[in-house]
Amino acid sequence: MFRIVAKKELAPRIKLFDVEAPEIARKARPGQFIILRVDEEGERIPLTIADFDQKKGTITIIFQEVGKTTELLGELQAGDSILDFVGPLGCPSEIERFGTVVCVGGGVGVAPVFPIARALGEAGNRVVSIIGARSRDMLIWEDEMRNVSSELLVATDDGSYGIKGFVTDILTGVLSREKVDRVVAIGPAVMMREVCRVTPESIPTVVSLNPIMVDGTGMCGACRVEVGGKTRFACVEGPEFDGHQVNWELVLKRSKMFVEEERIAMERGGC
Ligand code: NAD
Repeated sequence: MFRIVAKKELAPRIKLFDVEAPEIARKARPGQFIILRVDEEGERIPLTIADFDQKKGTITIIFQEVGKTTELLGELQAGDSILDFVGPLGCPSEIERFGTVVCVGGGVGVAPVFPIARALGEAGNRVVSIIGARSRDMLIWEDEMRNVSSELLVATDDGSYGIKGFVTDILTGVLSREKVDRVVAIGPAVMMREVCRVTPESIPTVVSLNPIMVDGTGMCGACRVEVGGKTRFACVEGPEFDGHQVNWELVLKRSKMFVEEERIAMERGGC
């Protein structure tokens, strides 16, 4: 069992947990994820690691309550435990001195961008971060992102904070004003697809895919995605891929595969 040592509500239906998992915290690197199961009958869900603290032995996860499992998870309190918490899974982000890197985080996707931006900064890059949310109250980890970035730019869809528009509107401006060596984007699939449309092929654009996953160890194939015309397993070969090579149509189609089952689960209650 993995004890929740701290719980915070960052925005409506967006929650943060610090989870006691010393073995995972010791090995975790930016870009990796965990898979958890709330209880015996629960489904397994992957969550990209938002932060890790080796000294405290904790892993920070941030999730939005969007379905049955995330709602059950959100009901847990500090002091409660999560049944299964497995990781770190997936390949870590590539952290090198690239030059200028733009880190784009949309909505809850700001959380997994944070450790990547921090590591890129520590590696000597100029990190320009762009974060966006639907409205000011949905924006998370602005201060955290500012602390690890050379420059932070903010957009909200409704204009209630920062510039009015999408993160891609800001990105277009940054690309026209300075030389960018790499872009890292995490958020909804449509956002990552649009980021890849905005960046020219000459700028490596890394995205973190979060398809449906079951075992997370490369056996079941549930998380398959098509990258560069080849089938890849996001759990063991990702979750990060070259965004210009991703078949976005397939990513979006597969993400909606269990919408009906999710609706039934929500109506039925329980797990
Ligand atoms: P959202 O729909 O509120 O969008 C967040 C921001 O993304 C928007 O404010 C906007 O700036 C940008 N965006 C959205 N649609 C866009 C478009 N068509 N063009 C350009 N920019 C666009 O996001 P949300 O409700 O917070 O959803 C978060 C999503 O992120 C979920 O789908 C979740 O699965 C995904 N996510 C992925 C990871 C990961 O590791 N890959 C981690 C956390 C969340």
